[in-house]
Amino acid sequence: MRYVSTRGLTPALGFSDAVATGLAPDGGLFLPETLPEFTRRDLEAWARLSYPELCHAFLRTFATDIPEETLRTLITRSYATFSHPEIAPLKHLSDDLFVLELFHGPTLAFKDFALQLLGNLYEYQCRERGESINVLGATSGDTGSAAIHGLLGKPGTAIFILYPEGRTSPLQERQMACTGASNVHAIAIQGTFDDAQAIVKELLGDQTFRKRHRLSAVNSINLARVLAQCVYYLYAWLHLPPRAQAEAEFVVPTGNFGNVLAGWMLQKMGVPLRSFRVATNQNDILYRLFNTGEYKPDAVRPSHAPSMDIQVASNFERFLYYHNEKNAKATMAQMEQFKKDGSIKIANFNASNFAATRSTDEDILKNIRMVKEKYDYVIDPHTACGFQDLDPSRTHVVLATAHPAKFPAVINEAIGETPTDPSLEAIKKKKMVTYPVEATAEAVRTFLEENGL
Ligand SMILES: *Cc1c(COP(=O)(O)O)cnc(C)c1O
Repeated sequence: MRYVSTRGLTPALGFSDAVATGLAPDGGLFLPETLPEFTRRDLEAWARLSYPELCHAFLRTFATDIPEETLRTLITRSYATFSHPEIAPLKHLSDDLFVLELFHGPTLAFKDFALQLLGNLYEYQCRERGESINVLGATSGDTGSAAIHGLLGKPGTAIFILYPEGRTSPLQERQMACTGASNVHAIAIQGTFDDAQAIVKELLGDQTFRKRHRLSAVNSINLARVLAQCVYYLYAWLHLPPRAQAEAEFVVPTGNFGNVLAGWMLQKMGVPLRSFRVATNQNDILYRLFNTGEYKPDAVRPSHAPSMDIQVASNFERFLYYHNEKNAKATMAQMEQFKKDGSIKIANFNASNFAATRSTDEDILKNIRMVKEKYDYVIDPHTACGFQDLDPSRTHVVLATAHPAKFPAVINEAIGETPTDPSLEAIKKKKMVTYPVEATAEAVRTFLEENGL
């Protein structure tokens, strides 16, 4: 299987090269040249597989340049770090309401599904090529800690995550800074998330520096992340009762559009998922898109669901490419227009598989309370967006993207309880190691030169 860029100006690459490259040199995102068509028979054969076995059966179609047995080992290792035997258990709240729990990984958020695997893929590539890499990223919380836990202690890799000092939640900071691993650098930037992001962009854009230090980016646009995320939709669908398989709408708390895109791509591969509902918080660019066909960022307003506080949904370009019937030229023109005008109006916008909702902070509190009262079940503030305006006459699978214990203050405000988790209790006692660095590209560059591999 080969991978092409949504902007069409990058030669097709194999899986490992596309994963290592991340963002295509033409500024586009990688996608499979053609999507496989899975059949009824495939689905029947997959119904009884364990999560890692299913992941292998799915990914072997895509990762064709990794030997089968090696791929199996990488996958087994990636999901061995999860604390629940089913990895992605499907909880029945009622006959027509299901919750897919995606928070049993090491950092208690769904990003572990992709980043545990990506970490093992990076380690494998370092070994194959006899090279070390330095992984660089900026985070406002969940991505950074999930990336760190994906690379923790892996030989041949070092990771540098920039975060705005004092602006992530204390638990998120501890997840990044209390690992005790010498290849992990939690860099506390004396500035905002945007400063951190701009520094990472500048350093990755400096090709000489990038080559010399074998820098690799960790962000939500890596192809491997989208493919790894397809698997839990497949697993959930296979475990639904037959009537729900036909009818269920998948409800996805959304920020960068990476999670829901994976489900939608799986549908394009022949898995009959009925439809999707994009659930945003008050940062509602995607809600507005699916209701008006206009893609227009607004200022980001911090909310109770911070991992969805995003106004530019980077994975949206992949959706656009398929919407344009794989016309890379048209996609490139739209993205350039977007860069120039700050918005795009999509002609003949067809999003028939999608509905969208948005939740204010008040809605988030109300939904946490409602689910607790009605089902005696505690959801986190991101998952709470998924419970907004559910149609009681329909069947839903709500994706639970984080464990409630990660957001004790909001949960406490909603229901007067403080959820906990053993892994979070353990890190509260550990020593914090952070590296405060001035918010300039120069300062971070010097830090990397001194501490990189
Ligand atoms: C990242 C994140 C989201 C948003 O996912 P996208 O793929 O960016 O749409 C939602 N909830 C939680 C808890 C997250 O960490």
